[in-house]
Amino acid sequence: LRRYSRPKEELRLGESPYDIPRVREMCNFTTHTPVEAGHDKFPYDLVQRILGNFIDPMTLKSLAGEDTLNMTHLALNLSEYINGVAKRHAEVSRQLYPGYRVQAVTNGVHPFTWTCPSFAKLYDIHLAGWCHEPELLVHADRIPDQTVWEAHIQAKNLLIEKVKKLTSVGLSAEVPILGFGRRMTAYKRPDLLFSDLERLKNIARKRPFQLVLAGKAHPKDDGGKRLIEVLHAHMRQLADVLPIAFLPSYDMDIALAMVSGVDVWLNTPLRPLEASGTSGMKAALNGVPQLGVLDGWWIEGCIEGVTGWAI
Ligand SMILES: *Cc1c(COP(=O)(O)O)cnc(C)c1O
Repeated sequence: LRRYSRPKEELRLGESPYDIPRVREMCNFTTHTPVEAGHDKFPYDLVQRILGNFIDPMTLKSLAGEDTLNMTHLALNLSEYINGVAKRHAEVSRQLYPGYRVQAVTNGVHPFTWTCPSFAKLYDIHLAGWCHEPELLVHADRIPDQTVWEAHIQAKNLLIEKVKKLTSVGLSAEVPILGFGRRMTAYKRPDLLFSDLERLKNIARKRPFQLVLAGKAHPKDDGGKRLIEVLHAHMRQLADVLPIAFLPSYDMDIALAMVSGVDVWLNTPLRPLEASGTSGMKAALNGVPQLGVLDGWWIEGCIEGVTGWAI
């Protein structure tokens, strides 16, 4: 319960008599995903072993579910304010949890963390104060196109160096790079791009491009691990037509190199399961357009042909 409460104030649900209205007053709950695996559930015998008589089981069951302790239901029932992480995700959550008022607070990313050095330098010159006042970035259009392009080419060259070092795949700065980096799991569909290999080969022959992929699977997500194998098999099948690199150990460092160094950032989730999908926002901070399925934040962020393109 403390996890969902304001810091420093103690919640006293475990004392009798239960002051549920008081607890509700002190709690906000942000739900993060419509994907079932993202909602923790615990068997009541485990709860009993750990909590003992700390809380009356009947009360707990009325708040958290009869059969298992469902953390999402517990939070929904004990929070005065509930939100999803994008407008669409709030709508989807309202359908999943009828009877609860779910508001929308669209996720964001920290501009200073997710802007590569060459763009940070540009913003310092043209939009002084941007890292404390990111609203200033709405004026990014005032930065001359040529300097934006030069900053992008610097980031692209850094990515190409990193790819060479980590995978020994040699990419060209002259040819567009498409990037896909995210947690490898079924609903993100990292394999969608490869669903028609002949067609993909034909496109790559006519309009050459390159691909940089990255992503780890959750240790318990066997489907996600299989997807990594599938991607590697496709890389071998396409080797003579389409240069592809898969960067190991996807982390924030690699993510920044990718979202700033590619020419187009790709996102192909299965709707409506991408609650927000923040990596496209990181790309935007580095002047990189996104090509993405209209889901999550992209419904709010996509201006066709300007910030990117909808699939
Ligand atoms: C931003 C980020 C994510 C989340 O990206 P999505 O667009 O939600 O898939 C995951 N992992 C790393 C390392 C990130 O930097």
